[in-house]
Amino acid sequence: MSAEEHVEHEQHFHALVGEDGEVHCAEVLERVNVFIDHELADADSDTIREHLAACEPCLDQFDVAEAVKRLVRRCCVGEQAPDTLRLRVLQVVAETGEDPLRR
Ligand SMILES: [Zn+2]
Repeated sequence: MSAEEHVEHEQHFHALVGEDGEVHCAEVLERVNVFIDHELADADSDTIREHLAACEPCLDQFDVAEAVKRLVRRCCVGEQAPDTLRLRVLQVVAETGEDPLRR
């Protein structure tokens, strides 16, 4: 039997770091939106920041998520988004089923 600590967070997320000690991309991506909103615990933010620096696919997703956030903010003040950004948003919507413009 190992004497490993099992820390349970009161979140609806799964553990960011798996039992193998690896950071799981899926878990990082689940938190990306929260991360952008700066609502994550500091420890999680650090882990995600480190992971994004080392993991290109996740960094890509992070960029898209951030672009969506920015677009949503812009829409709120009535500015037009550039077409490339709009296309990326549509792509995200298609992939995640989320509609960032319906909030
Ligand atoms: Zn990753």
